[in-house]
Amino acid sequence: MKFQSINFTCKGCGAPLRYSPATQSLRCEFCSSTELISHSNQSIKEYSLKKALQFLETHHPQEIIKEVRCNKCSALFKLTPYSVSSNCPYCNTPTITDFIKEITPQSMLPFSLTQKQAQTKFKKWLGSLWFAPNKLKKLIDGNENLTGYYLPHWTYDAETHSQYHGQRGTIYYVTVERTRVINGQHRRVTKKEARIKWRAIQGVVNNNFDDITIGASKTISHTILDNLAPWDTNRLIPFNTKYLSGFKSEEYTIGLDNGFEYAKMKMDNIIRRDIRADIGGDQQKIEQVKTTYNNTTYKSVLFPIWTAQFDWRGKQYNYAINGQTGKITGERPYSLIKIIMLIGFIIMLFGGVVYIEEHPQYFEDAFNSIRYN
Ligand SMILES: [Zn+2]
Ligand SMILES: [Zn+2]
Repeated sequence: MKFQSINFTCKGCGAPLRYSPATQSLRCEFCSSTELISHSNQSIKEYSLKKALQFLETHHPQEIIKEVRCNKCSALFKLTPYSVSSNCPYCNTPTITDFIKEITPQSMLPFSLTQKQAQTKFKKWLGSLWFAPNKLKKLIDGNENLTGYYLPHWTYDAETHSQYHGQRGTIYYVTVERTRVINGQHRRVTKKEARIKWRAIQGVVNNNFDDITIGASKTISHTILDNLAPWDTNRLIPFNTKYLSGFKSEEYTIGLDNGFEYAKMKMDNIIRRDIRADIGGDQQKIEQVKTTYNNTTYKSVLFPIWTAQFDWRGKQYNYAINGQTGKITGERPYSLIKIIMLIGFIIMLFGGVVYIEEHPQYFEDAFNSIRYN
């Protein structure tokens, strides 16, 4: 399906304009002139989750391959069905298309971290990784490795009411007699031992959740998206296409309903923590929790993320930087050579002669299992 390509051009020289996080305005690469992005005073709204889910039941998303013609070089190229903006693969001109999903983003956080700042942070972070392979450190010397994405997220609010059944454990001490062997002789000794007394308990815990954020994209793993949080949603602004210029952006591929199921899991962790506090005592058992969710609302938002990929020994490692706060997260490979060198150094230091007979794969597997930072 053919889609209209939107882009913004410089009033001075006609060259394409891109959003610049440094000045928070549109900037011409060619003549450096800038154009302000006017802000609407529209407040950021919450929308009823119930109404939206009812609407989505009868409106099913279509998968459309988007075909776009570049406004600059006229080349025709394809975008993935969920892609909204990108750069022309031939001349790098920013291209923005329409959203086609039922729910479009109503608000967003524009990039405030520039590519250069992200690169510097990324380099510093990699430098702090002891066992990272040198190849990885070299990879980030070029500027082309970080890609800026606006990735869709859902935010959920809910007032929860949770009824629970559980048990409160109280520790008490008893004096017991035991037989001990002391200097080869059996002796009776008394000692204190802890016991626990359980008592059935039930109660109610109420919570008020504000902006539980859930990644709605499959481009980056959920673990990474979760690690990029927190996002300062107090700084959300009404959605404006101009901020997408020059950046990649996507529509949601994880639905509003599935996102809410994930949000419930996050809320449940907090509810259970509060239930434990409510039960009190020295130890707690939670046997049953029934939660009702009231006044549930959602927002569809775009968050700015710098990403990098690194292929090493047939595996792909992904990194991401929060484009608002600069927080970095990612999977990391370990350099086997560096680990072996360190082990060798320790052996030398202690003067022993040790043969490492195990297959080196053993070390690699062990370190791969703790890849997350
Ligand atoms: Zn210009
Ligand atoms: Zn082009």
